[in-house]
Amino acid sequence: MATTGFKLFRVLGIPIHVHYTWFIVFSLVVYTLAVNYFPFMGPYYSPPVIWVMSVIAAIILFSSILLHELAHSYVAQREGIQINRITLFVFGGIASMVGETKSPKGELKIAAAGPALSFLLAGVFWIIAIIFRRGMATSPVLAISYFLASTNTLIAIFNLIPGFPLDGGRILRAIIWKRTGNLNKATLVSSRIGKAFAMFLIVMGLWNLTQGQFISGLWSIFIGMFLQQVAGEGYKQTVLHNTLASVRVGDIMVSPVILIHDENMTIEMAVNDYFFRYRYNSFPVVSDSILLGTISLHDIKNVDKEKWPHITVKEIMSTNPSEFTISPERSAVEALDKMVEDNRGRLVVVERGNIIGIVSQRDIMQVLKLKTDLGKN
Ligand SMILES: [Zn+2]
Repeated sequence: MATTGFKLFRVLGIPIHVHYTWFIVFSLVVYTLAVNYFPFMGPYYSPPVIWVMSVIAAIILFSSILLHELAHSYVAQREGIQINRITLFVFGGIASMVGETKSPKGELKIAAAGPALSFLLAGVFWIIAIIFRRGMATSPVLAISYFLASTNTLIAIFNLIPGFPLDGGRILRAIIWKRTGNLNKATLVSSRIGKAFAMFLIVMGLWNLTQGQFISGLWSIFIGMFLQQVAGEGYKQTVLHNTLASVRVGDIMVSPVILIHDENMTIEMAVNDYFFRYRYNSFPVVSDSILLGTISLHDIKNVDKEKWPHITVKEIMSTNPSEFTISPERSAVEALDKMVEDNRGRLVVVERGNIIGIVSQRDIMQVLKLKTDLGKN
């Protein structure tokens, strides 16, 4: 699973994250604009003006990319899909959706919304460019709008390349899905095309490097490698979601659960009598069969070893049940998403206030392996 980066703000209720690679890319875009682009657009700009123009153009460019993702997310939300977050990357962002679209038609609408919005933005910047063209000299506004009109057109076209998980690949997948009725197969075909396209970009980038075109060469290689990785991940994730969607937590949970009955037990005792003995990474803590919290290896690692004999389980356990419990009626996919999101190994399965079992990432992965081995989807 890709790292999520850190959170900037929320739009439409969706947290917007920035991947750490974004800063490198942002600086690279500003640098490329200031050195290789704007100096050739008008002979009158002084270096400070050029740098300010480059920063403004880059910020609006990344906002355009964000709007492209928000267009996908808006349509997805209307199709009943929950969006966990949007992460800004290189030539686009990634909207992490919970679950898959139920129908090819919905998938098609969601996929087409992004490029449609990018074309719309390109049109708006063209109009601004035309309005500002009337002056004699090439004004900074004209230069920036011209740049944004062309890049938004490029973003739309780039994303329409028919390789999954690009929008064009999603559109292709929706069409194959509609024809064959098989989502896994449709995803496999379109991610193969995506990988082939990624290879093409990498080879083209290497060729550019041998021709002395370093910046365009490195861009190509960079985007190609990125696509290569997401094409594979996207496929795995689809199969995973598709295979696990029908599995209920109640069907794969393990019981009885080993519980810590004394919340005043020291950490040292918990480590020796529970963690070493049973070798799980977390245990529910109860008092008179009422769930008080869970204590995990992670909680314990945050405490210095010398303090283990003096600190009790109660002092460091997690006590917010919404974080570590799940209902047996939920699907295995939801359980897995929740565990990955919060970086938890196990969830306590609770039904009407009673602990009835425990479900772990390992259990879910074993079920997935069994199901794929037996070819039963
Ligand atoms: Zn898109």
